Amino acid sequence: MIVAIFHDRKSLVHVSALKGAMEACFGSHGLRTVEQGYLHVPQNGETLDAARLLGHLQQVSGARPALWMVDRELEYPGIGRVFGCSSEHAALLSAAVADPQMLIREALHETGHLLGLDHCRKHCVMKLTSYEEREERPRSLCAECAARLEAGRGR
Ligand SMILES: [Zn+2]
Ligand SMILES: [Zn+2]
Repeated sequence: MIVAIFHDRKSLVHVSALKGAMEACFGSHGLRTVEQGYLHVPQNGETLDAARLLGHLQQVSGARPALWMVDRELEYPGIGRVFGCSSEHAALLSAAVADPQMLIREALHETGHLLGLDHCRKHCVMKLTSYEEREERPRSLCAECAARLEAGRGR
């Protein structure tokens, strides 16, 4: 699977780190990334409506899997503040976090969703974590999720 990476103006600085981390974690499972460049955010304000942006990204990228990094806070209607979120083929990531390691972990989690993984209870990048637990998520897949990706590859 090829995932297209989009960014807004300020989040450009994180693109190469993101690309490297995504390929380090998922490359052995067939993931490649392609830098798609700048994508204008069609919303104003400090906080962005994540659901609307996901729809916009999906429209821009069509059925191709894509991840879009924006340098503002994201709020998902009915959920509240999120660092990242995804729909079937599109994922969003907020670069408005203080810690770049946190950004990477979130990116890997959303990439896992793009590859079809659900949440996992093990010590795993696919673990669902609350805001308080966000530091506890590792940057790698557990053996079960890795096996699930391998099983789905031939499809
Ligand atoms: Zn998730
Ligand atoms: Zn797992």
